[in-house]
Amino acid sequence: MTVYGAAMAQEAEVSEMPRVGVVPPRMRAMVIRPERYGDPRSAFVEELIDTPLPRAGEALVYVMAAGVNYNNVWAALGRPVDVVAARVKAGEAEPFHIGGSDASGIVWAVGDGVTNVKVGDHVVAHCGVWDAGDPWIQSGGDPIVAPSARIWGYETNWGSFAQFTRVQAHQLLPKPPQLSWAAAGACMLVGATAYRMLNGWPPHTVQAGDIVLVWGGSGGLGSQAIQIARAKGGIPVAVTSGPERGEYAVKLGAKGYIDRSNFDHWGVIPDWRDDAAFAEWTAGARAFGKALWDVLGERRNPRIVFEHPGESTIPTSIFVCDNGGMVVICAGTTGYHAAVDLRYLWMRQKRLQGSHFANDEQCAAYNEMVTRGEVDPCLSRTFAFTDVGEAHQLMYENRHPMGNMAILVGALDAEQRDP
Ligand code: NAP
Repeated sequence: MTVYGAAMAQEAEVSEMPRVGVVPPRMRAMVIRPERYGDPRSAFVEELIDTPLPRAGEALVYVMAAGVNYNNVWAALGRPVDVVAARVKAGEAEPFHIGGSDASGIVWAVGDGVTNVKVGDHVVAHCGVWDAGDPWIQSGGDPIVAPSARIWGYETNWGSFAQFTRVQAHQLLPKPPQLSWAAAGACMLVGATAYRMLNGWPPHTVQAGDIVLVWGGSGGLGSQAIQIARAKGGIPVAVTSGPERGEYAVKLGAKGYIDRSNFDHWGVIPDWRDDAAFAEWTAGARAFGKALWDVLGERRNPRIVFEHPGESTIPTSIFVCDNGGMVVICAGTTGYHAAVDLRYLWMRQKRLQGSHFANDEQCAAYNEMVTRGEVDPCLSRTFAFTDVGEAHQLMYENRHPMGNMAILVGALDAEQRDP
């Protein structure tokens, strides 16, 4: 690899592409520093940062577009985890965070031992990283469950909100050729997460005819979950906060939607000894279940409930899940207190399953579904590089558009497909 003069790097615009394989010593990045923790709008600031070089098993990718995910809302806020402090405590030197856990781009340099990609390849990156020597992995365990597993661009530095990102080479998959850079860079994190939730927990994998209840059906995860469930023969039903979002979910393949604004039994379930409060809660949950039957036109319950709001919704999810079914959860956006009525769990033999991102095989399987056109990334809006903070602020306030957003880094516009 060639490294050219610092002056050129400083003068280069973010979309000015160097010659393939030429690595400038410094790059533009949208950087979070602890002294700026707070609203995403002001937490991200453009800085010139030394370009990282790939180590053994790693690749340097010239980023064309980056996806926007909730994890970097948390990174900007500095809670629940102070990501910079956590890394410094673990021995890393950089007192800053370059986030971004989704990317499309071009392989620019590779480290020793990399054989699955070469300089010039058009790729997308998934965000699962781990230590290949981890004893858990060495003994055949699923790498994303390993103690060393981390989310690139959230728990690790050098994410995609920069001209170059450093990744483990196994993170890279061929870019679906029909997609623009922006669409390709928008969806892997949520898509692969949804793929594992719906296909990674046998025997509760989506089967033909299964009802799948999808919270936030017009959101990042939900839009992907509906399409995956549909492609596998399931019958997805969305929950949304209004008809516009509901209709969007229907266009993606949902059988219908439940408008959650018609209900008010949300939050931690009341104490079972408080008869009046418990009866009121049960009436709300039953009404929700009836709304689901109305959508379906039959009295069937979901074999899989696709959860991520958490504290607000988990009691309802457990309640409506079918006997022997599974509530699978990957987040607690509204809070982490999951009070469930255990009687439903054991008497009706339901499963509450945690799930977190995905392994290489699941990412590849999701990428193939996208490449085959079975799943659309649902690109909503693209933002200029310097608007990374604004995009995350919209997400923080749940004012972002339906589907998935992307940041244009090297790409000039939302449609660009080639360098
Ligand atoms: P998103 O695009 O903002 O979608 C979330 C959806 O949740 C929204 O569209 C909203 O839809 C719904 N929602 C908001 N408040 C709600 C409430 N009080 N009750 C019920 N639904 C509510 O976000 P996302 O990208 O899908 O991510 C969702 C969560 O999953 C985030 O916390 C993220 O960090 C996490 N996540 C975790 C993983 C993992 O691997 N563990 C991977 C991806 C994402 P309506 O307002 O229409 O209902």
